Amino acid sequence: MHCPFCGHEDQKVLDSRPAREGDAIRRRRECLSCGRRFSTFEHPELPRLYAVKRDGTRQEFDRDKCMRSLLIACRKRPVPVEKLKAAVERVERDLFEEYETEVPTQAIGGRILQELKQIDPVAYVRFASVYLEFQTLTDFRDVLDSLRTSPPSGKSPIDPRTNLPDSAVTEVQTNPNPQGPNAEAPRPESLKA
Ligand SMILES: [Zn+2]
Repeated sequence: MHCPFCGHEDQKVLDSRPAREGDAIRRRRECLSCGRRFSTFEHPELPRLYAVKRDGTRQEFDRDKCMRSLLIACRKRPVPVEKLKAAVERVERDLFEEYETEVPTQAIGGRILQELKQIDPVAYVRFASVYLEFQTLTDFRDVLDSLRTSPPSGKSPIDPRTNLPDSAVTEVQTNPNPQGPNAEAPRPESLKA
């Protein structure tokens, strides 16, 4: 660092102490060339992660938004909020570890999906129907099959005929279509077939 008075590079640090209510460290320095004193402040860089949508728009990663989508997926399901908070924390921690400045929104959705798979099968299918943009009954079956072949630990395999109530299917149909109101939504007949 250059001395602000003479531009010399080396200083002696006279003391270091917490500053700005513990959010920074203040170092008192003395220039080795001109002998004048000045202070520097060191503070942690704020970690920021931007979620990048497929159309290229970016928004700062928002943990509250993650929490809201988990709450919507788990509506009327016997899932304690504490469990969802812990899941959001894991998602956030993993994403900040894996991505430095930008993360595709698909990656966020995929990570949330992983958590829901362990938490609640109905919530998982609901979220998957939006995230994976189910277009056909086959898409729907694929997700149910994936639940059956790799069930959450400690639980018995899911049988969609007994474990997926009609309300869950209704949810899937009424979920907002991510492609907008004009896109063709899956028709009820195709889901009941
Ligand atoms: Zn100096």
